[in-house]
Amino acid sequence: MPILSGKAFFDIDTQIDFLFPAGALYKTGAEQVIPAVAALNNYAAKHGIAVISTTCAHTENAAEFQVWPPHCIVDTFGQKKPAATLLPAGKQIIIEKNELDLFSNADLIPLLDKLGIDECFVYGVLTEYCVKFAIMGLLKTGRKVRLVTDAIYAKDEAAAREVIAAFEAAGGTCVTVETVTSS
Ligand SMILES: [Zn+2]
Repeated sequence: MPILSGKAFFDIDTQIDFLFPAGALYKTGAEQVIPAVAALNNYAAKHGIAVISTTCAHTENAAEFQVWPPHCIVDTFGQKKPAATLLPAGKQIIIEKNELDLFSNADLIPLLDKLGIDECFVYGVLTEYCVKFAIMGLLKTGRKVRLVTDAIYAKDEAAAREVIAAFEAAGGTCVTVETVTSS
């Protein structure tokens, strides 16, 4: 995959179990995020920007299920990504994880180093859970991090506002789909 920039787009956990009413961990309205995610993924693919899509990929006895209802079990429908968020083969890197934190996949940091990624644009679900791990963890690696605030969805709005405030205080920047895709 040719990477023409030091940018990567992070599409966090946009999976059927989180986004659709039939999903195991559906939050009412979450599907509203899909057009924005699709626009960002397609923009990146067209402009030679790496798209890293994280997915929950749980075993049937995942530790997380002590806390959350079972969801995103490997080989189930709910674990899949909506078609609109998928890119043609070779244009999208899928990073699977069995925990909330994407850095639990040990391949991630070596991949970012290999691709020379220094600027990360993050969007997806849910703001105060997996998106939070992504933005705060990426900041800790010393990279520039942009949160696309109209392409995320929260379970709890007040918690999401706290996450965004902490992110900005730690050096992160908030952007919109419009500003990202018109630059
Ligand atoms: Zn999970």
